[in-house]
Amino acid sequence: MRRITVRTGKETYDVLVGSGLLKTALGSEARRVSKGVKAMIVSDDNVFPLYGETVRRALEEAGFEAHSFVFSHGETSKTLDTYAALLDELCTVRLTRSDLVLSLGGGVSGDLAGFAAATYRRGTGFFQIPTSLLSCVDACVGGKTGVDLLGGKNQAGAFYQPLGVVIDTDVLKTLPEEEYRNGCAEVVKTAVIEGEDLFRLIEKDEVRQRYEDVISSCIEVKKKYVERDERDEGIRRILNLGHTFAHAVELSSGYAVPHGMAVSMGLAAVSRAAFRKGLLPEEDCERIVKTLKRYGLPTGLPYSAEALYGAAGADKKNTGSGMNLIVPRSIGKCEVLSIERSGFHEWLRLGGAS
Ligand code: NAD
Repeated sequence: MRRITVRTGKETYDVLVGSGLLKTALGSEARRVSKGVKAMIVSDDNVFPLYGETVRRALEEAGFEAHSFVFSHGETSKTLDTYAALLDELCTVRLTRSDLVLSLGGGVSGDLAGFAAATYRRGTGFFQIPTSLLSCVDACVGGKTGVDLLGGKNQAGAFYQPLGVVIDTDVLKTLPEEEYRNGCAEVVKTAVIEGEDLFRLIEKDEVRQRYEDVISSCIEVKKKYVERDERDEGIRRILNLGHTFAHAVELSSGYAVPHGMAVSMGLAAVSRAAFRKGLLPEEDCERIVKTLKRYGLPTGLPYSAEALYGAAGADKKNTGSGMNLIVPRSIGKCEVLSIERSGFHEWLRLGGAS
């Protein structure tokens, strides 16, 4: 088992990564960080039937009175309606500020439960039990919480750090293949940011053979950037490698292309464009594209440069006439490039858009 300590502003929390932790570590870890009496498990209707009882038992053995709130799986539940229903449920069971809201699930559950915890009685204890690969390697650390609005994804939210995170790698055995691949896209992205060690590992072995090592490495990378820039105002932007292209693909498809697939397309495209602009060695570009393909991920851009350019203009991360593009300079070295919005058209074309 690994224990990684994340320090942001006033908060410090531990992330535990290992096999069997729902049974061996969750109860004691939740009790260590919370003196609460009640615990609300927030989960979706895929994950709760698989792991809800194990989590409930662990919490009860640790002395919590356990309750649950189960919502329909998928992004379409990350709404103000589900959020309001969850707040009402917290009120109904009379949860107090010293009690605990636990997310048991993927990024949707984490974002929703975290936002409810951040705002219920102006902040109650929050704990993360991520169960999708994407939430293990990315969403469970960093404190971004929120819900989608009609006007866009993650438009209402708060920065709110958990008191603790427990990642039991055994739960990933039930993850559907497509969700595994989605998570692998974020792993490859992180490996490009991090450098040779993690990249070689996922070139040599399958991610799923080395969950504890891969997830710990990804969390170490995210921790490094989050600790230096909790509110995503500077250096943390590096973590958005491939995401400018990815958001454009997601918007162009009306969110029919899953996030991980879009990140893969975006990472391949920005690498190709960086190579063609003489910023990234050809060998590194080839390794990135080859590794994405190895994990069954798409590497082409399915929309025209015009369509993607229009969509990028609507991205909330782009302000004024300029935009920030995260560019790989080698495996292990990325930089933030400020470009004119009009210049993005050329990047799209060089990235492979028609
Ligand atoms: P998700 O929570 O919808 O999970 C994906 C699917 O996998 C769901 O159907 C879920 O029921 C299923 N699932 C999860 N774990 C499982 C398991 N162990 N066994 C079987 N099925 C399982 O989506 P996601 O891909 O985990 O996360 C995407 C969300 O995360 C988006 O809303 C995105 O905005 C958000 N996100 C947040 C952050 C952050 O920093 N807060 C970062 C990245 C993404």
